[in-house]
Amino acid sequence: MHTLYSRLGANVTAFLARPHRLLIDGQWVEPRSERRFDVEDPGTGAVIARVAEGTAADIDLAVAAARRAFESGPWATSRPAERTRLLLRLAELLEQHGDELAQLETLDNGKPLAVARRGIAGTADMVRYMAGWATKLTGEAVPLSMPGEWHAYTAHEPVGVVGQIIPWNFPLSMAIWKLAPALAAGCTVVLKPAEQTPLNALRLGELILEAGFPPGVVNIVTGFGGDAGAALAAHPGVDKVAFTGSTQTGKRIVQAALGNLKRVTLELGGKSPVFIFPDADLEAAIPGAANAIFFNSGQVCSAGSRLYVHRRVYDRVLADIAAHGERLRLGHGLEEGVDLGPLISRPQRERVEAYVADGRASGVEVLGGRQVLPEHGHFVAPTVLADTRADLRVVREEIFGPVLCAMPFDDDDLERLAGLANDTEYGLFAGIWTRDLTLAHRFARRIRAGSVSVNAHMVNDPALPFGGYKQSGWGRERGREALELYCELKSVAINLG
Ligand code: NAP
Ligand code: MG
Repeated sequence: MHTLYSRLGANVTAFLARPHRLLIDGQWVEPRSERRFDVEDPGTGAVIARVAEGTAADIDLAVAAARRAFESGPWATSRPAERTRLLLRLAELLEQHGDELAQLETLDNGKPLAVARRGIAGTADMVRYMAGWATKLTGEAVPLSMPGEWHAYTAHEPVGVVGQIIPWNFPLSMAIWKLAPALAAGCTVVLKPAEQTPLNALRLGELILEAGFPPGVVNIVTGFGGDAGAALAAHPGVDKVAFTGSTQTGKRIVQAALGNLKRVTLELGGKSPVFIFPDADLEAAIPGAANAIFFNSGQVCSAGSRLYVHRRVYDRVLADIAAHGERLRLGHGLEEGVDLGPLISRPQRERVEAYVADGRASGVEVLGGRQVLPEHGHFVAPTVLADTRADLRVVREEIFGPVLCAMPFDDDDLERLAGLANDTEYGLFAGIWTRDLTLAHRFARRIRAGSVSVNAHMVNDPALPFGGYKQSGWGRERGREALELYCELKSVAINLG
């Protein structure tokens, strides 16, 4: 055991040692495969737990349980206020167990404990926000112009059984962003966490049972994407699949969904631009742009990975961002004072290193990235690639690591600058740093991305819709839109004579 593990709470150690099963129909059950797979601490490479390998056979059972819960049993007739009550109870449990969940998140994903702790608080906020919507999802009375006298209205009804497939970069938040709106809307769920980070989904399953959700409303099947994930996306008994992850896997989800034309929402990759104009408050813009790419070691779909800086301030901004990166302390997430944890896995680290090597080979200048890396774990130091060009792979492809591609710009022609911003197959996010509000508004309009922030980065409020244009996805998470995407809209017209 790593010495840092002595800092873990007794409940965390006990959880890790428990035999981990699948949550199906309110019971923890053995996987049909009778196989388990290792869960690794990316900060040490050590195996910290073994979880059940769910496969297509378990997905069948989970979908059947979710179907029964949706069509009969207490959930089928649950009043909206009851769903609010259960979700609020879950939010309380998330808070009560915040320290424990944060430690599990750090162990499983590698992120610093303080960051994980803030993330857990955010999940409770998200659950409360969505809990409120359960009683407020009103339809409309629709005035008809047809001859006769009519009463017509629309109503939101839950879409049904939902398959949810999530990634490893924010394990608990991703689970909550998916589950909370689906449950508020009255759906039932089969959740497949990422193979690298299944632990908090399993602990969450225990808390969901403790909160009192009826059996079958939430089912959790750990396993591999190519098997359990693919089976869930293709399942004829699933009415909607909601996915977060790579654009490549997102396209497979769409193909798998064709069989029964299930509804699909996708939250995919990005290559998001950040623009620093010469009038910006650089004291805020420099750490802002640095955090936009270095936070969570760059493993963020909305990371600000392309930086455009006005030539007048370019050299200073780049030097300061590189210096900011070099001041960040890399280490195991359980260590005090650590700013950045490791990447999730060896393959991810190798992938990111290959991109940096590719950038170097194409002749760009590499700033930063010189920290001595911790001996164990999959660490990559914050790195800035200066004077990159639009045609380079490092500028076009999502790296998903702490690697910033920077480019200067000279003019103030917004159409041309928007052309730079939009020169990507993605469209998830864009950041603008300027004191000129007119410029900010005019530029925001011209950017083809689902979220734009001005003088800030990563505004993660539960009320603010989040999602992608272009190949960054379909649909939105957070806000009322998230809930509506777990609903069908019914219109009813009554002939009053
Ligand atoms: P991924 O393949 O997209 O994985 C995301 C989720 O989909 C995981 O639960 C995965 O299961 C599952 N999955 C994989 N193949 C599937 C299939 N054929 N059918 C159904 N589900 C499937 O992402 P990754 O391989 O972990 O990471 C690769 C790249 O994706 C990263 O380098 C990054 O560029 C991007 N990424 C983006 C986000 C984001 O937030 N947008 C998050 C993570 C990664 P397994 O865990 O078993 O593979
Ligand atoms: Mg994968």
